[in-house]
Amino acid sequence: MFVDKVRITVCGGKGGDGAVAFHREKYVASGGPDGGDGGHGGSVILRVNDNLSTLLDFRYKRKYAAQGGDNGQGRKMSGKRGEPLIVEVPRGTVVRDAESNQIIVDMSTGEDFVIARGGRGGWGNAHYATPTRQVPRFAKAGTKGQERDVVLELKLLADVGLVGFPNVGKSTLLSVTSNARPKIANYHFTTLFPNLGVIYVDEGVSFVMADIPGIIEGAAEGAGLGHDFLRHIDRCRLLVHVVDVSGSEGRDPVADFDAICAELESYSPELKDRPMLVAANKIDLLPPESDNLQRLRAHVEALGCPLYEISAGTTQGTRALMRVVADKLSTLPPVTVYEPEYVEPVPQAGDPSQLQIEHLGSTWLITGQWLENLVQNINFDDYESRNYFDQQLRKCGLFARLEEMGIADGDTVDIYDFQFEYQR
Ligand code: GDP
Ligand code: MG
Repeated sequence: MFVDKVRITVCGGKGGDGAVAFHREKYVASGGPDGGDGGHGGSVILRVNDNLSTLLDFRYKRKYAAQGGDNGQGRKMSGKRGEPLIVEVPRGTVVRDAESNQIIVDMSTGEDFVIARGGRGGWGNAHYATPTRQVPRFAKAGTKGQERDVVLELKLLADVGLVGFPNVGKSTLLSVTSNARPKIANYHFTTLFPNLGVIYVDEGVSFVMADIPGIIEGAAEGAGLGHDFLRHIDRCRLLVHVVDVSGSEGRDPVADFDAICAELESYSPELKDRPMLVAANKIDLLPPESDNLQRLRAHVEALGCPLYEISAGTTQGTRALMRVVADKLSTLPPVTVYEPEYVEPVPQAGDPSQLQIEHLGSTWLITGQWLENLVQNINFDDYESRNYFDQQLRKCGLFARLEEMGIADGDTVDIYDFQFEYQR
């Protein structure tokens, strides 16, 4: 079975909790706090594997969760980081946000992509020892990992897409020109999933050609295999439209050509304008008295599509056609890589009255859901992000509330694993 669209849930691991522990040693009355930090949760990472050609594996497994971080322990032992979860996808997988349907990433360049971040580990109480507060009995819980639903959609990376009615010889053409061995038989829809073949034209000149399941008239209305497979030629730089000129199936090649073009257009107006060559196939079967070839040639050339006579069955003209294709490709822009559309919503501060504020000596511990979300999305290594964080806190009135509660200059404000000294 060929699976080329799936919806999955990805979930970063939870951060481990910080520990509350105290140093204990024989003959030492009471030791200081030595609870270690929780480990960060693992992230879910997408990676291209060129040996994969479908999304079949995802059909049976829908949830992908990375490991959580371990909790911190006494003796200042930090919890182990959660292992990242590597999820392998075929090259050309386009990942969308399930809700907005916007593209998050196009996995065609081969770079890894973090699709769900792990949570942050919480600080252990060892972090909270100060000269004035020797016995901190608190530690922080780790934060949750990012969880999101995404749609994976395979859009093959091929330079050339073969289009045409079923049984016109598309698979045969691919098999005689490339290393691919698609299924060929004299009945409709033998090709049930796309085949890719590499065609070597010359030293250093090659391209990838895709044979997709036949489209037929009415696919737009759900006839035949439908339009689903057309997504695999979305990226193609050039289409080779294969037409059976022999009329061996009792159809008219000009009508066939127009029907397929109409299907392409109804799927996507963009596809209609894709550069196209016409391969008039099965000329070995063309009855001498037939005017099919002349009529088709006149028709397509008037539309600006050059026509080449071939017989995929006997390989007549197929090498020459592949050369023309390679030449044409050298004049065309590279295969489309989709730009990301999805922009992660910028986290905003909420209402400070929804936050829990604990006052312990000179430290103010602040927790709460929106604050956790905000912290999770701030990169504290980055000045701009820290600045944004600071502004958000000021704007929401948190500091005003702390003042009411009696915070003094020099006190410590503690927000998850982030601490700063309060200055009015
Ligand atoms: P597809 O459905 O377009 O992929 O068509 P196939 O490649 O499966 O071919 C359909 C049938 O036509 C098969 O029986 C092929 O052997 C036959 N065929 C393909 N090309 C030619 C050709 O140039 N000449 C002849 N005589 N038969 C061909
Ligand atoms: Mg076929």
